[in-house]
Amino acid sequence: MANEKRASPSAYGYSDEYEYLRICPTCYELYETARPDGEEQRCTCRPAGKRWPHRDFNQRAMLCRCCGLNVLPSGSRWSPYFCRECRLLAMGVSVWNRRLVFPTGRHSLMHAWVPKTPSAARSDHGNEVEAQAAGVHAALQGIEHGSDGLWHWYALVMPRNLQHFGLEGDVSLLEYLEAVAAGAPALSTRLEAFDGLCRFFQPSLRESERKN
Ligand SMILES: [Zn+2]
Ligand SMILES: [Zn+2]
Repeated sequence: MANEKRASPSAYGYSDEYEYLRICPTCYELYETARPDGEEQRCTCRPAGKRWPHRDFNQRAMLCRCCGLNVLPSGSRWSPYFCRECRLLAMGVSVWNRRLVFPTGRHSLMHAWVPKTPSAARSDHGNEVEAQAAGVHAALQGIEHGSDGLWHWYALVMPRNLQHFGLEGDVSLLEYLEAVAAGAPALSTRLEAFDGLCRFFQPSLRESERKN
């Protein structure tokens, strides 16, 4: 854990409170072992421990659901799913599609907007309400599908990242982010990841176009 003169993992969100976090070689979620305070974060392969007192759920941190290159604080219902770069891209896609395609955090429900209703429905108040309800329904489905898809995508992008940085097996978060920092993936790597995410989501994007 010596501080070499490499690019800093802190540029990728790392901080000392994450020193016990490791990347599970099976599900790629972060988990902890041997924490002195016993409040260990568990990955999806391990049974959940007792509920921690100061968080909405037992998670200290997770990696960006799009690029997997940044660690993000977690444990709150306000916690983000994406690093700053990926979040901007995700929001852009939602704006372009006039609906929430990629939820950007657990609180997405509150950030979902009602997609524009068809103009024909505007003359009649009753129809308008109905159409808006349909819009809300569609947005909610988008979120459900969206978060699911994000987790599936993450399980695809992580093994690629690990391979790219020459890592395998059970690696610590610090080791991983040091490799990320040393490899200094520029914005282009994130764009590539985001492009992959969009292509991964393509069937659902097309589906939503058909419905609208
Ligand atoms: Zn696991
Ligand atoms: Zn990202």
